[in-house]
Amino acid sequence: MMQIFMPLNFLGFVYREMKGSLANIERMFDLLGRKPLVEDKPGAGRLAVTDGAIEFDDVHFHYHPERPILKGVSFRVEPRQKVAIVGSSGAGKSTLFKLLFRFYEVSGGAIRIDGQAIDSVTQSSLRRNIGVVPQDTVLFNTSIFENIRYGKVDADDEEVWRAIRLAHLDQFITRLPEGEQTLVGERGLKLSGGEKQRVAIARAILKHPPIMVFDEATSSLDSHSEQHILTALSEIAREQTTLVIAHRLSTVVDADKILVLDQGEIVEQGSHQQLLTKGGRYAALWRVQQQERSTD
Ligand code: ADP
Ligand code: MG
Repeated sequence: MMQIFMPLNFLGFVYREMKGSLANIERMFDLLGRKPLVEDKPGAGRLAVTDGAIEFDDVHFHYHPERPILKGVSFRVEPRQKVAIVGSSGAGKSTLFKLLFRFYEVSGGAIRIDGQAIDSVTQSSLRRNIGVVPQDTVLFNTSIFENIRYGKVDADDEEVWRAIRLAHLDQFITRLPEGEQTLVGERGLKLSGGEKQRVAIARAILKHPPIMVFDEATSSLDSHSEQHILTALSEIAREQTTLVIAHRLSTVVDADKILVLDQGEIVEQGSHQQLLTKGGRYAALWRVQQQERSTD
């Protein structure tokens, strides 16, 4: 997910240069004098999310032709389902998300949301409907409060506070020297990985899009905070379609479906119980992690 948010890193830079006016990706590329990697097709319509179903249909992808990354990935996420993607580092999990956001064009196959191919709609309408809690969160050089409001720029203060409480950031914020007005980012207070993740979670709660994506979103939190936040999120995400990438399997046991990705292919899928019974790759991973936990 790091790479997805490279543009957002630039955006942070541009945002400062633009002194608070609302930046968007297109404007950012204008300022950088570069063309975006992916452009809207002429006459692209708006994505209309009715149910929030996601479909990957035989998706192939490479960053460089000589090295295929995804080799015919197909799966469906039904409306309001929670689907988890697990697999070792380098398997292609974050790449799946980058493609869903259309930061890159697929090399073959199609991705559809409620039956609409994502390359037939505008990128702004696509991204408006998807919330993301990335592996690495970008903070702008402004107050922590405004950083959270960024999830929904027209939210009133009460809505922002609600998101702060749900993300378990309220205690942290009240202890800051200037409370919610404390400046963060490169020129202000530096936040820890776990605190930044909670900012991202608060933004996502505020944005409340029909589709939510978490990319190892709670990996920097200790297991106690992680459990707290996951409980809050499952409350909030009940009405949303959710895709979760997780390294710690304990965070995906309640998923409707778990996909095991290995070297760009889905090698197993099913519920936690089904996969344990199957006794394959997932079951082996689960045993290893259970042992790690008991020796913690
Ligand atoms: P995961 O999230 O499962 O760890 P990724 O989707 O991030 O895996 O990466 C899958 C493979 O694609 C890795 O081998 C990685 O090195 C490669 N990769 C990721 N991003 C890029 C990129 N921007 N350019 C070239 N190769 C990349
Ligand atoms: Mg990744």
